[in-house]
Amino acid sequence: MGKFKEKVAIVTASSDGIGFAIAERLASEGACVMVSSRKHQNVDGAVRELKDKGYYHVSGMVCHVANKEHRSRMIEKTVEEFGGIDFLVSNAAVNPIFGPILDSTEEAWDKIFDVNVKSTFFLVKEVVPYMVKRGGGSIVIVSSQGGYTPSQLMGAYSVSKTALLGLVKALVPQLTQMNIRVNAIAPGVIKTRFSEKLWKGNNEISDNYLNTIPLRRFAEAYECAGAVSFLLSDDASYVTGETVAISGGVSNRL
Ligand code: NAP
Repeated sequence: MGKFKEKVAIVTASSDGIGFAIAERLASEGACVMVSSRKHQNVDGAVRELKDKGYYHVSGMVCHVANKEHRSRMIEKTVEEFGGIDFLVSNAAVNPIFGPILDSTEEAWDKIFDVNVKSTFFLVKEVVPYMVKRGGGSIVIVSSQGGYTPSQLMGAYSVSKTALLGLVKALVPQLTQMNIRVNAIAPGVIKTRFSEKLWKGNNEISDNYLNTIPLRRFAEAYECAGAVSFLLSDDASYVTGETVAISGGVSNRL
């Protein structure tokens, strides 16, 4: 059954892209996984795909992470179905605007910070009591390379991802006392729908990005899943408050 036998994981925004790849990886390693995203049909499709691959210990439900009731119901259903919570992967984020930062609106900033930062914090806060009941746990927050080096076209989003680098550090002292580790990953350009404008087609934007990447290619979603699996696992028992860059050799520094 793998290294995560008897472990239970919640992965947000996991009906597609990086979240789906993480859910699949954790399920393949034996974890019971709660898949979620905003749209019913996407969740059902993802759960069906995972079950078709033989991962019967997955379940799914709608959870828009900025909706407190959705978060509560997802946590309750996870505990009801699987008996507790050991792992949280907070992966949901939005970027409603693409363009120079000074063109961004107050509405966009509110949405970005509500979903990407505030919801991440409250989801962590809400799962912690359940991890405490299990004697501890492990959390991974999906930040971004843009959190280190702000994207010129996704300024507000990048700042929200910088905030997550800080959130991980801010959580460490209290979570450590509860035997909960918290880390982040900072992906570069990963070939998903979210980042299509950056990698799809051979245009000036994608060429400019490629030229900055020492590995000279964009990544696939599954290439984020191994780092998450490591950070959640006991192999990382002495790792907390860290961010692992998955950025093809681009150096990352605030
Ligand atoms: P993606 O392929 O477009 O998938 C997005 C997923 O998020 C879908 O399952 C979507 O399903 C769900 N979703 C969107 N808004 C949500 C919300 N408010 N609540 C719950 N679920 C929501 O995106 P991705 O590239 O995998 O991005 C995942 C994470 O990686 C994000 O945090 C992103 O910032 C980060 N990241 C991505 C890249 C990249 O290059 N792709 C780089 C760095 C960081 P529904 O439509 O059904 O909600």
